[in-house]
Amino acid sequence: EELLGEDLNLSAEITSQSSSKPPNRLANATFVMLARNSDLEGTISSIRALEDRFNSRFGYPYVLLNDEPFTDEFKRRVSVLTRSEMKFGTVPKDHWSQPDWIDEEKAANARKQMELSRVKYGGSLNYRHMCRFNAGFFYRHELLQPYRWYWRVEPNVKFFCDIHRDPVRFMEENNKVYGFTIAVYEISATIRTLWGALAHDNAMGFISDDDGRTYNRCHFWSNFEIADMDFWRGPAYTAFFEYLDSQGGFYYERWGDAPVHSIAASLFLRRDQIHFFEEIGYQHDDWGHCPIPDDVWEKGTCSCAQGNSFDMDVGSCKPRWDRFIRSG
Ligand code: GDP
Ligand code: MN
Repeated sequence: EELLGEDLNLSAEITSQSSSKPPNRLANATFVMLARNSDLEGTISSIRALEDRFNSRFGYPYVLLNDEPFTDEFKRRVSVLTRSEMKFGTVPKDHWSQPDWIDEEKAANARKQMELSRVKYGGSLNYRHMCRFNAGFFYRHELLQPYRWYWRVEPNVKFFCDIHRDPVRFMEENNKVYGFTIAVYEISATIRTLWGALAHDNAMGFISDDDGRTYNRCHFWSNFEIADMDFWRGPAYTAFFEYLDSQGGFYYERWGDAPVHSIAASLFLRRDQIHFFEEIGYQHDDWGHCPIPDDVWEKGTCSCAQGNSFDMDVGSCKPRWDRFIRSG
Protein backbone atom coordinates (compact mmCIF):
# COMPACT_ATOMS: atom_id res chain seq x y z
CA GLU A 1 0.00 0.00 0.00
CA GLU A 2 1.13 3.52 -0.63
CA LEU A 3 2.04 5.94 2.06
CA LEU A 4 1.66 9.52 0.97
CA GLY A 5 1.87 11.16 4.38
CA GLU A 6 5.51 10.30 5.06
CA ASP A 7 7.23 13.59 4.31
CA LEU A 8 4.32 15.57 5.73
CA ASN A 9 4.70 13.60 8.93
CA LEU A 10 8.24 14.86 9.40
CA SER A 11 7.01 18.42 9.58
CA ALA A 12 4.48 17.39 12.24
CA GLU A 13 7.33 16.12 14.41
CA ILE A 14 9.28 19.33 14.03
CA THR A 15 6.23 21.41 14.92
CA SER A 16 5.44 19.44 18.04
CA GLN A 17 9.07 19.61 19.22
CA SER A 18 9.29 23.36 18.84
CA SER A 19 5.95 24.16 20.50
CA SER A 20 5.95 24.71 24.26
CA LYS A 21 3.09 22.29 25.01
CA PRO A 22 4.16 18.66 25.41
CA PRO A 23 2.59 16.45 22.73
CA ASN A 24 -0.49 14.48 23.75
CA ARG A 25 -0.10 10.79 24.34
CA LEU A 26 -2.16 9.13 21.65
CA ALA A 27 -4.14 5.92 21.96
CA ASN A 28 -3.29 3.16 19.52
CA ALA A 29 -6.00 4.42 17.20
CA THR A 30 -6.73 5.54 13.68
CA PHE A 31 -9.52 7.15 11.77
CA VAL A 32 -10.95 4.83 9.15
CA MET A 33 -12.98 5.99 6.19
CA LEU A 34 -14.42 3.95 3.35
CA ALA A 35 -14.82 6.06 0.24
CA ARG A 36 -15.09 5.96 -3.53
CA ASN A 37 -13.01 8.14 -5.82
CA SER A 38 -16.25 9.97 -6.59
CA ASP A 39 -16.54 10.84 -2.86
CA LEU A 40 -13.52 13.17 -3.11
CA GLU A 41 -15.26 16.44 -2.20
CA GLY A 42 -17.19 14.85 0.66
CA THR A 43 -14.03 13.20 1.96
CA ILE A 44 -12.22 16.55 1.95
CA SER A 45 -15.11 18.17 3.78
CA SER A 46 -15.19 15.52 6.54
CA ILE A 47 -11.44 15.53 7.12
CA ARG A 48 -11.28 19.31 7.07
CA ALA A 49 -13.97 19.43 9.79
CA LEU A 50 -12.28 16.75 11.89
CA GLU A 51 -8.93 18.51 11.68
CA ASP A 52 -10.44 21.88 12.61
CA ARG A 53 -12.45 20.63 15.54
CA PHE A 54 -10.15 17.93 16.90
CA ASN A 55 -7.30 16.32 15.12
CA SER A 56 -4.98 19.21 14.28
CA ARG A 57 -4.29 19.32 18.05
CA PHE A 58 -3.96 15.55 18.41
CA GLY A 59 -2.51 14.06 15.24
CA TYR A 60 -4.25 10.70 14.88
CA PRO A 61 -3.47 8.93 11.59
CA TYR A 62 -5.98 8.12 8.87
CA VAL A 63 -6.66 4.94 6.92
CA LEU A 64 -8.75 5.40 3.79
CA LEU A 65 -10.18 2.32 2.12
CA ASN A 66 -11.79 1.81 -1.27
CA ASP A 67 -12.97 -1.21 -3.23
CA GLU A 68 -10.97 0.23 -6.17
CA PRO A 69 -7.52 1.87 -6.10
CA PHE A 70 -7.64 5.54 -5.13
CA THR A 71 -6.54 7.90 -7.90
CA ASP A 72 -3.41 10.01 -7.51
CA GLU A 73 -5.61 13.09 -7.59
CA PHE A 74 -7.70 11.76 -4.69
CA LYS A 75 -4.63 10.99 -2.62
CA ARG A 76 -3.01 14.34 -3.35
CA ARG A 77 -6.06 16.42 -2.48
CA VAL A 78 -6.87 14.50 0.69
CA SER A 79 -3.37 14.06 2.14
CA VAL A 80 -2.65 17.80 1.90
CA LEU A 81 -5.33 18.45 4.56
CA THR A 82 -3.46 17.06 7.54
CA ARG A 83 0.01 16.67 8.95
CA SER A 84 -1.02 13.27 10.25
CA GLU A 85 0.02 10.09 8.56
CA MET A 86 -2.48 8.97 5.94
CA LYS A 87 -2.61 5.57 4.29
CA PHE A 88 -4.67 4.55 1.30
CA GLY A 89 -5.70 0.95 0.82
CA THR A 90 -7.71 -1.25 -1.48
CA VAL A 91 -10.19 -3.78 -0.12
CA PRO A 92 -9.35 -7.38 -1.12
CA LYS A 93 -11.87 -8.79 -3.60
CA ASP A 94 -13.09 -11.57 -1.30
CA HIS A 95 -13.98 -8.97 1.34
CA TRP A 96 -16.19 -7.17 -1.18
CA SER A 97 -18.15 -9.83 -3.00
CA GLN A 98 -21.04 -12.20 -2.63
CA PRO A 99 -19.87 -15.49 -1.08
CA ASP A 100 -20.27 -18.57 -3.28
CA TRP A 101 -22.81 -20.17 -0.90
CA ILE A 102 -25.30 -17.43 -1.75
CA ASP A 103 -27.97 -18.50 -4.23
CA GLU A 104 -27.72 -15.68 -6.79
CA GLU A 105 -31.22 -16.21 -8.12
CA LYS A 106 -32.68 -15.85 -4.63
CA ALA A 107 -30.47 -12.82 -3.93
CA ALA A 108 -31.35 -11.12 -7.24
CA ASN A 109 -35.02 -11.71 -6.52
CA ALA A 110 -34.68 -10.13 -3.08
CA ARG A 111 -33.00 -7.08 -4.60
CA LYS A 112 -35.79 -6.73 -7.15
CA GLN A 113 -38.53 -7.05 -4.51
CA MET A 114 -36.91 -4.47 -2.23
CA GLU A 115 -36.39 -2.11 -5.13
CA LEU A 116 -40.09 -2.42 -5.98
CA SER A 117 -41.09 -1.68 -2.39
CA ARG A 118 -38.74 1.32 -2.45
CA VAL A 119 -36.54 0.23 0.42
CA LYS A 120 -33.53 2.56 0.64
CA TYR A 121 -30.64 0.94 -1.30
CA GLY A 122 -32.92 -2.10 -1.61
CA GLY A 123 -31.86 -2.86 -5.18
CA SER A 124 -28.14 -2.27 -4.69
CA LEU A 125 -25.62 -5.11 -4.68
CA ASN A 126 -22.74 -2.74 -3.93
CA TYR A 127 -24.47 -1.40 -0.84
CA ARG A 128 -24.78 -4.98 0.41
CA HIS A 129 -21.06 -5.57 -0.19
CA MET A 130 -20.38 -2.38 1.76
CA CYS A 131 -22.56 -3.43 4.72
CA ARG A 132 -20.99 -6.86 4.84
CA PHE A 133 -17.51 -5.32 4.64
CA ASN A 134 -18.23 -2.94 7.51
CA ALA A 135 -19.85 -5.69 9.56
CA GLY A 136 -17.17 -8.32 9.22
CA PHE A 137 -14.05 -7.29 7.35
CA PHE A 138 -12.78 -3.73 7.78
CA TYR A 139 -10.92 -4.60 10.99
CA ARG A 140 -9.13 -7.42 9.18
CA HIS A 141 -7.64 -5.12 6.55
CA GLU A 142 -3.85 -5.14 6.67
CA LEU A 143 -3.65 -1.36 7.15
CA LEU A 144 -5.72 -1.66 10.35
CA GLN A 145 -3.65 -4.45 11.85
CA PRO A 146 -1.29 -2.09 13.75
CA TYR A 147 -4.25 -0.52 15.56
CA ARG A 148 -6.55 -1.49 18.38
CA TRP A 149 -8.97 1.45 18.25
CA TYR A 150 -10.72 3.10 15.35
CA TRP A 151 -12.90 6.11 14.78
CA ARG A 152 -15.12 5.61 11.77
CA VAL A 153 -15.74 8.59 9.54
CA GLU A 154 -17.72 8.94 6.33
CA PRO A 155 -17.57 11.46 3.50
CA ASN A 156 -19.84 14.48 3.97
CA VAL A 157 -20.24 14.35 7.73
CA LYS A 158 -20.01 17.40 9.98
CA PHE A 159 -18.45 18.00 13.36
CA PHE A 160 -20.09 20.94 15.10
CA CYS A 161 -18.05 21.33 18.27
CA ASP A 162 -14.47 21.57 19.42
CA ILE A 163 -13.52 18.23 20.91
CA HIS A 164 -11.14 19.06 23.74
CA ARG A 165 -10.95 15.68 25.41
CA ASP A 166 -9.51 12.79 23.40
CA PRO A 167 -12.53 10.46 23.02
CA VAL A 168 -10.43 7.39 22.33
CA ARG A 169 -8.27 7.85 25.41
CA PHE A 170 -11.47 8.50 27.35
CA MET A 171 -12.73 5.10 26.23
CA GLU A 172 -9.45 3.42 27.00
CA GLU A 173 -9.24 4.90 30.49
CA ASN A 174 -12.88 4.12 31.32
CA ASN A 175 -12.99 0.57 29.97
CA LYS A 176 -15.41 1.44 27.18
CA VAL A 177 -15.58 -0.68 24.04
CA TYR A 178 -18.18 0.92 21.75
CA GLY A 179 -19.00 4.63 21.44
CA PHE A 180 -21.79 6.33 19.49
CA THR A 181 -23.50 9.67 18.94
CA ILE A 182 -26.82 8.76 17.29
CA ALA A 183 -29.21 5.83 17.79
CA VAL A 184 -32.11 5.15 15.43
CA TYR A 185 -34.63 2.52 14.26
CA GLU A 186 -33.69 0.22 11.38
CA ILE A 187 -36.00 -0.22 8.35
CA SER A 188 -38.02 -3.41 9.04
CA ALA A 189 -37.87 -4.75 5.51
CA THR A 190 -34.06 -4.96 5.60
CA ILE A 191 -33.81 -7.23 8.65
CA ARG A 192 -36.91 -9.49 8.74
CA THR A 193 -35.05 -12.61 9.83
CA LEU A 194 -31.97 -11.05 11.52
CA TRP A 195 -33.41 -11.35 15.01
CA GLY A 196 -34.63 -14.89 14.46
CA ALA A 197 -31.06 -15.89 13.62
CA LEU A 198 -29.93 -15.06 17.20
CA ALA A 199 -29.80 -16.83 20.52
CA HIS A 200 -32.89 -16.31 22.66
CA ASP A 201 -31.63 -16.13 26.20
CA ASN A 202 -29.99 -12.78 26.81
CA ALA A 203 -30.69 -9.60 28.76
CA MET A 204 -31.03 -6.88 26.17
CA GLY A 205 -33.19 -4.00 27.35
CA PHE A 206 -32.07 -1.54 24.72
CA ILE A 207 -32.75 -3.59 21.62
CA SER A 208 -35.78 -5.60 22.67
CA ASP A 209 -39.02 -4.59 24.39
CA ASP A 210 -40.22 -8.13 25.03
CA ASP A 211 -37.27 -9.85 26.69
CA GLY A 212 -35.59 -10.73 23.45
CA ARG A 213 -38.48 -12.26 21.55
CA THR A 214 -38.37 -9.52 18.95
CA TYR A 215 -35.93 -6.82 17.89
CA ASN A 216 -37.20 -3.27 18.40
CA ARG A 217 -34.89 -2.14 15.54
CA CYS A 218 -32.87 0.29 17.68
CA HIS A 219 -29.28 0.56 16.62
CA PHE A 220 -26.28 2.80 17.09
CA TRP A 221 -25.83 4.72 13.85
CA SER A 222 -22.60 3.19 12.62
CA ASN A 223 -21.52 5.94 10.23
CA PHE A 224 -19.96 7.30 13.45
CA GLU A 225 -18.23 4.78 15.65
CA ILE A 226 -15.33 4.88 18.03
CA ALA A 227 -14.62 1.35 19.14
CA ASP A 228 -12.15 -1.28 20.17
CA MET A 229 -11.34 -3.61 17.27
CA ASP A 230 -10.33 -6.31 19.74
CA PHE A 231 -14.07 -6.73 20.23
CA TRP A 232 -14.75 -7.38 16.54
CA ARG A 233 -11.61 -9.51 16.30
CA GLY A 234 -12.54 -11.59 19.35
CA PRO A 235 -14.14 -15.05 19.42
CA ALA A 236 -17.74 -14.01 20.22
CA TYR A 237 -18.12 -11.50 17.41
CA THR A 238 -16.14 -13.62 14.96
CA ALA A 239 -18.46 -16.58 15.52
CA PHE A 240 -21.51 -14.28 15.43
CA PHE A 241 -20.48 -12.72 12.12
CA GLU A 242 -19.56 -16.05 10.52
CA TYR A 243 -22.92 -17.44 11.52
CA LEU A 244 -24.89 -14.45 10.23
CA ASP A 245 -22.87 -14.49 7.02
CA SER A 246 -23.69 -18.17 6.55
CA GLN A 247 -27.40 -17.33 6.88
CA GLY A 248 -27.10 -15.14 3.77
CA GLY A 249 -29.08 -12.17 5.12
CA PHE A 250 -26.51 -9.64 3.92
CA TYR A 251 -27.68 -10.62 0.40
CA TYR A 252 -31.14 -12.21 0.80
CA GLU A 253 -32.21 -9.19 2.79
CA ARG A 254 -30.03 -6.11 3.21
CA TRP A 255 -28.67 -6.52 6.72
CA GLY A 256 -26.83 -3.36 7.64
CA ASP A 257 -23.57 -3.24 9.55
CA ALA A 258 -25.31 -0.94 12.04
CA PRO A 259 -27.88 -3.41 13.44
CA VAL A 260 -25.30 -6.20 13.31
CA HIS A 261 -22.75 -4.18 15.29
CA SER A 262 -25.41 -2.88 17.65
CA ILE A 263 -26.93 -6.27 18.41
CA ALA A 264 -23.47 -7.69 19.08
CA ALA A 265 -22.49 -4.77 21.31
CA SER A 266 -25.78 -5.01 23.19
CA LEU A 267 -25.54 -8.77 23.65
CA PHE A 268 -21.85 -9.31 24.25
CA LEU A 269 -20.82 -6.21 26.19
CA ARG A 270 -21.76 -4.91 29.60
CA ARG A 271 -23.92 -1.82 29.27
CA ASP A 272 -21.24 0.33 30.93
CA GLN A 273 -18.86 -0.61 28.11
CA ILE A 274 -21.07 1.26 25.63
CA HIS A 275 -20.63 5.02 25.64
CA PHE A 276 -22.74 7.87 24.33
CA PHE A 277 -20.62 10.91 23.36
CA GLU A 278 -22.72 13.90 24.38
CA GLU A 279 -19.97 16.39 23.55
CA ILE A 280 -19.42 15.31 19.95
CA GLY A 281 -21.72 17.42 17.78
CA TYR A 282 -22.09 15.44 14.61
CA GLN A 283 -24.21 15.36 11.45
CA HIS A 284 -24.70 12.62 8.87
CA ASP A 285 -27.18 13.29 6.07
CA ASP A 286 -30.42 14.60 7.61
CA TRP A 287 -29.79 13.66 11.22
CA GLY A 288 -27.41 15.16 13.67
CA HIS A 289 -26.52 15.22 17.32
CA CYS A 290 -26.03 18.55 19.05
CA PRO A 291 -24.95 18.64 22.72
CA ILE A 292 -28.00 19.36 24.88
CA PRO A 293 -26.44 20.59 28.16
CA ASP A 294 -25.57 24.28 27.77
CA ASP A 295 -22.17 23.96 29.42
CA VAL A 296 -21.16 21.20 27.00
CA TRP A 297 -22.42 23.20 24.01
CA GLU A 298 -20.59 26.33 25.15
CA LYS A 299 -17.34 24.55 25.94
CA GLY A 300 -17.41 23.05 22.45
CA THR A 301 -18.16 26.42 20.80
CA CYS A 302 -20.67 24.40 18.80
CA SER A 303 -22.13 25.62 15.52
CA CYS A 304 -25.33 23.52 15.78
CA ALA A 305 -28.78 24.36 17.15
CA GLN A 306 -29.59 22.24 20.22
CA GLY A 307 -33.26 22.22 19.23
CA ASN A 308 -32.37 20.45 15.99
CA SER A 309 -30.67 17.55 17.74
CA PHE A 310 -32.11 14.27 16.53
CA ASP A 311 -31.99 12.93 20.12
CA MET A 312 -35.47 14.29 20.80
CA ASP A 313 -37.01 13.13 17.51
CA VAL A 314 -39.62 10.36 17.56
CA GLY A 315 -37.31 8.42 15.24
CA SER A 316 -34.47 8.47 17.75
CA CYS A 317 -33.65 5.57 20.06
CA LYS A 318 -31.68 7.86 22.36
CA PRO A 319 -34.62 8.33 24.82
CA ARG A 320 -34.88 4.56 25.01
CA TRP A 321 -31.15 4.31 25.66
CA ASP A 322 -31.43 6.87 28.47
CA ARG A 323 -34.38 5.04 30.01
CA PHE A 324 -32.53 1.75 29.77
CA ILE A 325 -29.40 3.17 31.41
CA ARG A 326 -31.41 4.85 34.16
CA SER A 327 -33.31 1.65 34.90
CA GLY A 328 -29.96 0.25 36.04
P1 GDP B 1 -25.51 5.39 4.09
O1 GDP B 1 -24.70 6.15 5.09
O2 GDP B 1 -26.10 4.14 4.66
O3 GDP B 1 -26.52 6.24 3.40
O4 GDP B 1 -24.51 4.86 2.93
P2 GDP B 1 -23.30 5.60 2.23
O5 GDP B 1 -23.56 5.72 0.77
O6 GDP B 1 -22.90 6.85 2.96
O7 GDP B 1 -22.14 4.52 2.39
C1 GDP B 1 -21.56 4.23 3.65
C2 GDP B 1 -20.04 4.30 3.54
O8 GDP B 1 -19.56 3.36 2.60
C3 GDP B 1 -19.49 5.65 3.10
O9 GDP B 1 -18.22 5.83 3.74
C4 GDP B 1 -19.33 5.48 1.61
O10 GDP B 1 -18.31 6.33 1.10
C5 GDP B 1 -18.92 4.02 1.52
N1 GDP B 1 -19.38 3.35 0.30
C6 GDP B 1 -20.67 3.04 -0.07
N2 GDP B 1 -20.70 2.38 -1.24
C7 GDP B 1 -19.41 2.26 -1.63
C8 GDP B 1 -18.77 1.66 -2.77
O11 GDP B 1 -19.40 1.11 -3.68
N3 GDP B 1 -17.40 1.74 -2.82
C9 GDP B 1 -16.66 2.35 -1.83
N4 GDP B 1 -15.33 2.38 -1.94
N5 GDP B 1 -17.23 2.90 -0.76
C10 GDP B 1 -18.58 2.87 -0.65
MN1 MN C 1 -23.45 7.76 4.78
